[in-house]
Amino acid sequence: MEIKQVEFVISNTNIAKCPQDKKPEYAFIGRSNVGKSSLINCLANNKKLAHTSSKPGKTQLINHFIVDETWYLVDLPGYGYAKVSKNSRQKFQKMIEDYILERPNLINLFVLIDSRIPPQQIDLEFMEWLGENQVPFSMVYTKIDKLKSNQLNKNLHTYHKKMLESWAEIPVYFATSAETGAGKTEILSYIAEINR
Ligand code: GDP
Repeated sequence: MEIKQVEFVISNTNIAKCPQDKKPEYAFIGRSNVGKSSLINCLANNKKLAHTSSKPGKTQLINHFIVDETWYLVDLPGYGYAKVSKNSRQKFQKMIEDYILERPNLINLFVLIDSRIPPQQIDLEFMEWLGENQVPFSMVYTKIDKLKSNQLNKNLHTYHKKMLESWAEIPVYFATSAETGAGKTEILSYIAEINR
């Protein structure tokens, strides 16, 4: 599956201002610099899409894009900008929490994880919070082009072992690169399958 058309719809800080129709939506979130904008642009075949909406001043907004007039792709603000507090969950903006917990359209959240680095507390805590709140999510490992395949496998293994300390099973995950397009088909097929 390829995306044919993507259009920016709205940026805002308030879930009440998100589009009012009932189209399914899929949101992308992760620590700042994880490669979220690059991945969104890669999925959409549009090098400027996510950057357009994440100009300074727009980075803390919920950005809706309509894809092929069928579903919304939602670019959520990156977390973990500031110093990491003891309880990163508390720091997590209320806006994002409201969106995630109260947006009926949200079908799946893609949580982006940098494949090159060890499991980060802020990501693990965030996913635990999603689990506690029964929010459907998948993991998206980014920047895999920067790793040799044995190193990637090793890192995924480490991550999954860490996850299994608190999870009964590993969530659905994707290994991606905005550079090579790895994982793109898998993510788009996953969305298409759910939308069927
Ligand atoms: P964001 O803050 O999560 O939106 O991250 P960006 O998409 O702006 O990416 C942060 C940095 O990582 C930029 O310098 C990108 O060029 C780089 N980057 C993002 N994705 C990839 C990738 O798949 N491969 C490589 N090699 N670099 C990437």
